[in-house]
Amino acid sequence: MKMFLDKNKPLHTCDEKSCDHCDVKELVYCHFNMKLLFQFIIVAIPCFIIGGIGVSRFNPWLLIPWIVFFVLYFGLIEIRVMCSHCPHYAEPETKTLTCWANYGSPKLWKYRPGPMSLTEKFVFFSGLVIIIMYPSLIMTISEQFILLTVFVLYAMIAVFLMHLFMCRRCMNFACPLNSVPKDVKDKFMSHNSIVCHAWNQSEKQ
Ligand code: SF4
Ligand code: SF4
Repeated sequence: MKMFLDKNKPLHTCDEKSCDHCDVKELVYCHFNMKLLFQFIIVAIPCFIIGGIGVSRFNPWLLIPWIVFFVLYFGLIEIRVMCSHCPHYAEPETKTLTCWANYGSPKLWKYRPGPMSLTEKFVFFSGLVIIIMYPSLIMTISEQFILLTVFVLYAMIAVFLMHLFMCRRCMNFACPLNSVPKDVKDKFMSHNSIVCHAWNQSEKQ
């Protein structure tokens, strides 16, 4: 089984026969690779390691609910409310995600092109807040203020780096954190009629 989609084959949602000479090829990540996966891991994981150290220094058993929620959120909930709107999710030949974030998460839900609903956005942000606030509160209660400062600073740096290098080129325009410029979105839509149609329909409702 391939670890990533064939970079020479257009997305399932894409109308083109080839990615050669595509005008969004260098602007949107339609395909992922090991380099992009590592880039995401290097940016995201330290934050969770720092948070985990803070929790375990107070009480290692308290790591369990955090890890359980982490797996449920990034393995199931976030996939339903956010990733199921992503063109990458639509690939019929994969049963798990092969992108940079959430690599390996199962695709249990159906592909739902178009924007996220208000409820989905609420669930998406609520999950992120719980994951960040849990170690923050424990570090506050246990007066680990230096570690808490490092945690908060690193979380801010991680968000900044993701915004700079990932969210500006992510094909999931439904994500509230997506920051692909409008002209690039329009170009991508012009190649991906399934996605374009779903967004147009939602605007009419
Ligand atoms: S929009 Fe289509 S043709 Fe262009 S890079 Fe993405 S998958 Fe390939
Ligand atoms: S939204 Fe991001 S994490 Fe989810 S499937 Fe798309 S590229 Fe992967």
